[in-house]
Amino acid sequence: MSHNEQSGEEKPVQAPAGTDAYPPAHAAHHIPSEINELYAPENNGRHLAALLTDLGERNIYDAAAQCNRCGYCETSCPTYMLTGRETLSARGRNQFMRLLLEGKAKNSADAAEALNTCLLCGACSSACYAKVPTPDIVLEGRRTLSGYGDNFFSRAAVKTLLDAPGLFGFWLKLAYLAKKTGLPRLAARLGLYHLLGMPGLADAEGAVDRTPLRFAAELLRRDPSLRPQGKLAVNWAYFAACGPNYMFTDVALATVRVLRRHAGEGIFIENQCCGLMAHNYGRLEDAREFARRNILRYEELKAVFGDFPVVADCSSCAAFMKSYEQLFTGDEDWRPRAAAFAAAVRDILELIPAEKIDHAPADKLEAAGRITYHDSCRACHGQGIRPEPRAVLKKLAGRRYTELPESDWCCGGAGAFAFTQPELSAGVLDRKLRNIASVQADTVVVGATSCLIQINAGLKAAYPSARAVHYSVLLDQLTAGKELPPDNAKIKL
Ligand code: SF4
Ligand code: SF4
Repeated sequence: MSHNEQSGEEKPVQAPAGTDAYPPAHAAHHIPSEINELYAPENNGRHLAALLTDLGERNIYDAAAQCNRCGYCETSCPTYMLTGRETLSARGRNQFMRLLLEGKAKNSADAAEALNTCLLCGACSSACYAKVPTPDIVLEGRRTLSGYGDNFFSRAAVKTLLDAPGLFGFWLKLAYLAKKTGLPRLAARLGLYHLLGMPGLADAEGAVDRTPLRFAAELLRRDPSLRPQGKLAVNWAYFAACGPNYMFTDVALATVRVLRRHAGEGIFIENQCCGLMAHNYGRLEDAREFARRNILRYEELKAVFGDFPVVADCSSCAAFMKSYEQLFTGDEDWRPRAAAFAAAVRDILELIPAEKIDHAPADKLEAAGRITYHDSCRACHGQGIRPEPRAVLKKLAGRRYTELPESDWCCGGAGAFAFTQPELSAGVLDRKLRNIASVQADTVVVGATSCLIQINAGLKAAYPSARAVHYSVLLDQLTAGKELPPDNAKIKL
């Protein structure tokens, strides 16, 4: 049942605080460039040329204007449901964008709050008849806010990851070593992060309990069977997203084992970061550069092996790569290449057909207990993946599988949201935890690493007998020893 269906309540339509009353929905389709920061020449490269919406290609203003303020999505929006504030709903945010573009937003602090508190979960777009792409519109709005994504730390992190990934890994390992000494915890206790103006880092430090000193890419690179050299055909190429690569190496290795077991032999694509972090934190041109490098790598391999799926095991990254075409809407050369790459991307959640899965042995199921499934936002809202992982889990676990009420309610993780908006994040998480407790689940299966961190942090504090587990890890554990013959394994695009 969707959140909308749960509440028949009519909400009065109010204009956001700090703005004029709502203009008529048909007003001002032509926006002079002098009041429209998004189309100003100096902002070329800082904004998308156009959004690819369900109703066709639209400029940002027209995309926001597709919101007719019906309010049908209100009860799907976690930040609205938590606060009851119109400005923190999809309708309010789209309205702010229109007013920003028309030069009518009177209070930029209100606009900044509305845009910065969006989880980018996409629940509103799923509920919306017009499929208004509110998360993309919000991101465009954030890029107009002065200073967004332009601080020293985000610039340094993105540039190092892009141009010197080895150095990025080195710094990360140093940070992990420092964490093992307990120094960051001491810094948090002494309030140093607050003094530095970065209170979110204290929470981030506490939530991270994985500090691998060997990253997944390093381990996979050492495996000669994952190299393309000497291969005649490739059934899949594994894409190591940053979460599984730098933190959840067990997820990356489990995904590769699952792929081998159920899809035959494949390769490690030796990718760069997908660019999502740069994209979501205001560095669009850097995101495009990450995308170009991944597309080039794919094209090199495709020229040798023909079509194969590029498989990622973090739904946020898979969804973002499936939207690469939108990054290049103003670029005739890269746009079709990005579209071809996007068409090859698969989330591990959708890849393994349930027909290839047998019921798991009783002793393994005993250890997993009661299993339920949390729809990571970028899997269900971002990619439309809902039935596929459920079919596999039901086949594996039978009656031990149970549906999670409001399974597509965001967990509040949303990348760095848990650290930038801790109170909102905690409120959103609380509803998820109550739902998990209501079905007495022991194992909560997720598809994104942000959900793993967030839900496990919540469970540890409120419901310690349960744990969140990545889909690949559970599938690997429950199907070990079930290797299929290679001719039965090929998965077609
Ligand atoms: S985003 Fe869609 S569902 Fe929500 S208020 Fe706008 S038109 Fe209605
Ligand atoms: S993306 Fe999520 S938080 Fe943002 S407006 Fe839509 S439902 Fe609300």
